[in-house]
Amino acid sequence: ALHVGVLALQGDVREHLRMLEESGAEATSVRRVGELESVDALVVPGGESTTIDKLSRAFDLRDPVRDRIAEGMPVLGTCAGMIMLADRIVGGIEGQQTFGGIDMTVRRNAFGRQVDSFETDLEVAGLDGPLHAVFIRGPWVDSCGPDVEVLATVDRGADGVHPVVVRQGRLVAASFHPELGSDHRLHRMFVDMVRSGV
Ligand code: GLN
Repeated sequence: ALHVGVLALQGDVREHLRMLEESGAEATSVRRVGELESVDALVVPGGESTTIDKLSRAFDLRDPVRDRIAEGMPVLGTCAGMIMLADRIVGGIEGQQTFGGIDMTVRRNAFGRQVDSFETDLEVAGLDGPLHAVFIRGPWVDSCGPDVEVLATVDRGADGVHPVVVRQGRLVAASFHPELGSDHRLHRMFVDMVRSGV
């Protein structure tokens, strides 16, 4: 069976495990290097990127995760997980690091104080019909390189149009929380991508 791990240092791990299981994968939480070695792909959940960063270093997982990403392991990062996949951050705390892998600059807490959490129906390339997306103090993509495919954007009026779902190779990142609610299509898209090997 296809084995997908969820990085379980902090954040909404259980929701991702359930979504993955319901999308046809065998899902396990990953907190140790040995657990990382046994998975075909990884989800980095939403939560708090500064905490996930610190704990990944404390648990000696940062370099192993970076190595697996460099070797081509598929990763889905959501919200804080999107930040962890970004090569560059705007609005990070002093010394904040990421795993990197996607040639993009993300802006933390981009949607602003008053409207930092909201829900919207999002057209995502490759999905049939809009996806109900829950944004909770999420990042958006400020800029990205030529190898990054933009799968969805959000129009913030005077604040501009910003990518909120992107893909580079086998790395997929979303600004929101696809693990909340009952729409499995983004997880299924990821599981299918892992299974097909492209
Ligand atoms: N604001 C959080 C961060 O910077 C992300 C929020 C989330 O994952 N819901 O990590």
